Amino acid sequence: MADLVAIEGLRLPTTAIIDGSPRMTAESFDDVGPRDGRLLARIALCGPREVDQAVASARTAFEDGRWRDRTAKDKKRTLHALADLMNRHAEELALLECLDTGKPISDARGVDVPLAIETAHYYAEALDKLYGEVGPHHPGRLSWAVHEPLGVIGAIVPWNFPLHMAMWKVAPALAMGNSVMLKPAEQSPLTAIRLGELALEAGLPDGVLNVVPGLGEGAGQALARHRDVDMIAFTGSGSVGRLLMRYSGESNLKRVSLELGGKSPQIVFADCPDLEAAAQAAAWGVFFNQGEVCTAASRLLVQRDIRETFVARVVEIARGIVAGDPLDPDTRFGAMVSEGQMEAVLGHIGRAAGEGGELLLGGERVRRESGGFYIEPTIFDHVAHDATLAREEIFGPVLGVVTFDQPEEAFRIANDTVYGLAAGVWTADLELAHRAARVLRAGLVWINGWDSCDITMPFGGFRQSGFGRDRSLHALEKYADLKAVTITLRGTR
Ligand code: NAD
Repeated sequence: MADLVAIEGLRLPTTAIIDGSPRMTAESFDDVGPRDGRLLARIALCGPREVDQAVASARTAFEDGRWRDRTAKDKKRTLHALADLMNRHAEELALLECLDTGKPISDARGVDVPLAIETAHYYAEALDKLYGEVGPHHPGRLSWAVHEPLGVIGAIVPWNFPLHMAMWKVAPALAMGNSVMLKPAEQSPLTAIRLGELALEAGLPDGVLNVVPGLGEGAGQALARHRDVDMIAFTGSGSVGRLLMRYSGESNLKRVSLELGGKSPQIVFADCPDLEAAAQAAAWGVFFNQGEVCTAASRLLVQRDIRETFVARVVEIARGIVAGDPLDPDTRFGAMVSEGQMEAVLGHIGRAAGEGGELLLGGERVRRESGGFYIEPTIFDHVAHDATLAREEIFGPVLGVVTFDQPEEAFRIANDTVYGLAAGVWTADLELAHRAARVLRAGLVWINGWDSCDITMPFGGFRQSGFGRDRSLHALEKYADLKAVTITLRGTR
């Protein structure tokens, strides 16, 4: 164990950010640190009243054009300035993320914060690359189509990658000229509030980015039911996704985009070109970020000829993944985000054993003496594909192994889910790889690698994994309306 990263002197931001100012509310909610179960901070509890005020400021900012009507060059400069400020505060942001979520400081430093910064730079650069189009030639008319910002965007984000997921929504929405209302998850509000502060420092005008911490049923629902919000961009659970569509229908038919997670399969064929890389990917594909990843490779499908040696190697790698203090720079596997999430995952583990899965590794809460919420990497073999473990998103460090004989059988099992976020295939057979890419019903297909995450490629799911894409230039279109304009040219024949 290395020396823990020092946190003395770290300021924990606790306020809402409304109309360019920090705002404390009469009531607050407790933000508990998962590494030791102790209270981190009391955070402003926004409800319908604060959401109303923040939406009004976002609407005013949008209508008076203080951000929307700035030149592309100006907007670009401001978003780059925000990214640069985030970079200057990278260590502080990483510490806040680590304390709030229980993820290892090495991941917060090496993954979350750099990817959030990259996202801000990417959309700063992209914002003047989205061209409109001119209609086919007509001698008496000139027609063109242009993207226009939607107005006020509500970004409701989860706790697994709080800053990174926030930037996936905030950056393209701002790049298109919208005002944004950011509602962080109640488990992880710290980096969202700090982002709101840094955006003001970077020169984003008042009211263009408001941050409203609060509960899902409170601030989240108020935002999603608000008649002056034009769109909700959401990442989280399917059950809340359903509610958001209902709220939209019962209010102003605001647009909704949903990123809802999955039950992603990783298929390893016997001719896999690099079994060691595949075994590492099988383990880290589900144990990275304590399994709290929407693309977690929670189903491992292995061809029978290699299953004994391959599964043994995955178990060996997983045995070396030991839960540690998130503030220890050597820790690669930290705490679950909350006691509730830990209990939910332990409940799934108990059910899996009851449904005939054979426990190969783990299954227990660990580091109990710390007061924190830790579960060890857990692997079940012989998981029937109608078992809960094969069907429900667990959002924890739990892997289920299934054995197959023929490719068609593997594809059928892989697609036998209501989800469709990610899928992986390991094979040296080019034809088989192409077939897999075609038949697997998922928004992301990775061949001979896992989680080849890149800002330039769209991210999102098929089926009940949601709709609408984050990342890439496609995300810009999500935050825009398309207007067709036609001028009739008098005197032209
Ligand atoms: P959740 O869907 O309840 O919360 C996500 C966000 O939605 C939070 O900001 C929350 O405050 C907000 N929210 C909750 N209820 C709301 C409501 N009625 N109206 C508006 N907003 C509301 O997710 P969770 O409880 O944090 O986690 C539960 C499960 O969700 C996890 O076990 C996992 O399966 C899934 N999840 C998926 C992702 C993902 O990346 N797809 C991320 C986090 C959680």
